[in-house]
Amino acid sequence: MERISWHQYFMAQSHLLALRSTCQRLMVGATIVRDKRIIAGGYNGSVSGSVHCIDEGCYVIDGHCVRTIHAEMNALLQCAKFGASTENAEIYVTHFPCLNCCKAIIQSGIKTVYYAEDYKNHQYAVELFKEANVYVEKVELDQHYISLKP
Ligand SMILES: [Zn+2]
Ligand SMILES: [Zn+2]
Repeated sequence: MERISWHQYFMAQSHLLALRSTCQRLMVGATIVRDKRIIAGGYNGSVSGSVHCIDEGCYVIDGHCVRTIHAEMNALLQCAKFGASTENAEIYVTHFPCLNCCKAIIQSGIKTVYYAEDYKNHQYAVELFKEANVYVEKVELDQHYISLKP
């Protein structure tokens, strides 16, 4: 059995988290890593204690489900809640971050974004990451570690 790489290990963690998502429009997972340690994780879902899209259906306004907090935001807010610094941290996400998450990632001091799948990659997000010197790299999950087929 070969030893799993750090990239694959953290990306697999994000894919596992995505399976906890409560909105099936897009199941996303995010893992924040500092010095090779996982400091937080998140998936897209409702505010704590509120109803779930998977039970009540999505709450769609202008083509977007407004019920959920995105995985990246949830991971960042977990750091805020429990007092973990995100300065110079890395984030592993299953999908390319949306514009709002992109801005939050930059503002939190995260300097590296690894994502597994392209998803409506916003040109402005790409520009903002570049401008903020945030390193962005696509790291696909090797299917032999975790098979996500239903
Ligand atoms: Zn939803
Ligand atoms: Zn987002």
